[in-house]
Amino acid sequence: MGLSRHNSPMVKSLNIAITGAGIMGLSAAYALSQTRHKITLYDPKGVPANNASSMAGGMLAPYAEIEHMPQAFIEAGLEGIKIWQNIMPDQIRQNGSLLIAHDEDRYILERFKQHLPPEKQISVEPLEPQLPKKFTSMLHLKEEAHLDPAPTLSKLCDMLKDKGCIFQSSTYAPAHQNDYDYVIDCRGMGAAQDDPDLRGVKGEILIVQNKEFSLSRPVRLMHPRYPLYIVPREDNIFMIGATNIESAGDGVSLRSGLELMSALYSLHPSFGEAQIIDMKAGIRPAYPDNFPRITIEDNVIRCNGLFRHGFLLAPVMAECVTDYTENRHNKFTDLFWRDNNDPDHQRSEKDLRNAA
Ligand SMILES: Cc1cc2nc3c(=O)[nH]c(=O)nc-3n(C[C@H](O)[C@H](O)[C@H](O)COP(=O)(O)OP(=O)(O)OC[C@H]3O[C@@H](n4cnc5c(N)ncnc54)[C@H](O)[C@@H]3O)c2cc1C
Repeated sequence: MGLSRHNSPMVKSLNIAITGAGIMGLSAAYALSQTRHKITLYDPKGVPANNASSMAGGMLAPYAEIEHMPQAFIEAGLEGIKIWQNIMPDQIRQNGSLLIAHDEDRYILERFKQHLPPEKQISVEPLEPQLPKKFTSMLHLKEEAHLDPAPTLSKLCDMLKDKGCIFQSSTYAPAHQNDYDYVIDCRGMGAAQDDPDLRGVKGEILIVQNKEFSLSRPVRLMHPRYPLYIVPREDNIFMIGATNIESAGDGVSLRSGLELMSALYSLHPSFGEAQIIDMKAGIRPAYPDNFPRITIEDNVIRCNGLFRHGFLLAPVMAECVTDYTENRHNKFTDLFWRDNNDPDHQRSEKDLRNAA
């Protein structure tokens, strides 16, 4: 399988199944649809599906985890923003994001700043005129961007239909594995039963409408107990999130609801009169180190563990997978690729090609 099967520069048209129509499966389908391959996408929930991806904030925030993430992931995230700009320039807004802190929590922002290269440490003049003056410490991360997941996923599905991708509203059956040259497994938490390393991290969110308030970019409140982000959408609608609970259970608890609402009210008093549109929870698929992985076994390529960065990193992983099927080098492949038998060790693309 792999290299020996199509080791000439011209790769034949392959028959590829993708399981899961979350952001990972759709990104893989989009990247692969740029080739001559035939793509069939399976998801029992149909498309667009109601899944973790549809509940995301849609922030493309490579610097958000700078305190815990190696620099290479930040570069991959910046690449993810570029890919989105190419795929859907009309859905993405690149106004940066704003980090703010109450005066007593300024140290969190200062600590965060220390991880940024000097040219990124820009304290700003008030960028969001409606934010209260009490937020004296701010940081503008200019390269970050955001999009609205629901319309983006829906548009991606339309683009894939136009490209001839076949959608199957059913569960993919492993018995069909040999019908395909490759199966790209993007089942998110649906893969947990086969992958003991995968865990769910619940994220609860609140969606409100506040006609008295507007923002041009996501704002992250750096708080020791209740860190919160608020992402602006059309019609003065805001997504507020998100909790990080080590559980794959559904539903929003009363405690989380109260915490999100109080933190929001502390951001601006006009939220006291905001209309609650929705409260819901999504389960982020994560590995123990919280970094996403690509693994390969026979003709199955698994892409999972996108944790808090599905929208940021899925397009980059999708290009790595496509380049692998096309026998092309991708400089980000080594970052994601893991050995199934030894998942703590990152593998080089070359190792994997030799093993496949
Ligand atoms: C509250 C919250 C906020 C977030 N905010 C952001 C953010 O701002 N920015 C960001 O980049 N990321 C964010 N994320 C993370 C992001 O949403 C996830 O990383 C991403 O959704 C994972 O995508 P996925 O495609 O792997 O899984 P999913 O979106 O869960 O999709 C998996 C799909 O597989 C399907 N499936 C399952 N089993 C099968 C089967 N046997 N056959 C076929 N299909 C199957 C499921 O029906 C599902 O549709 C957030 C997540 C949450 C929960």
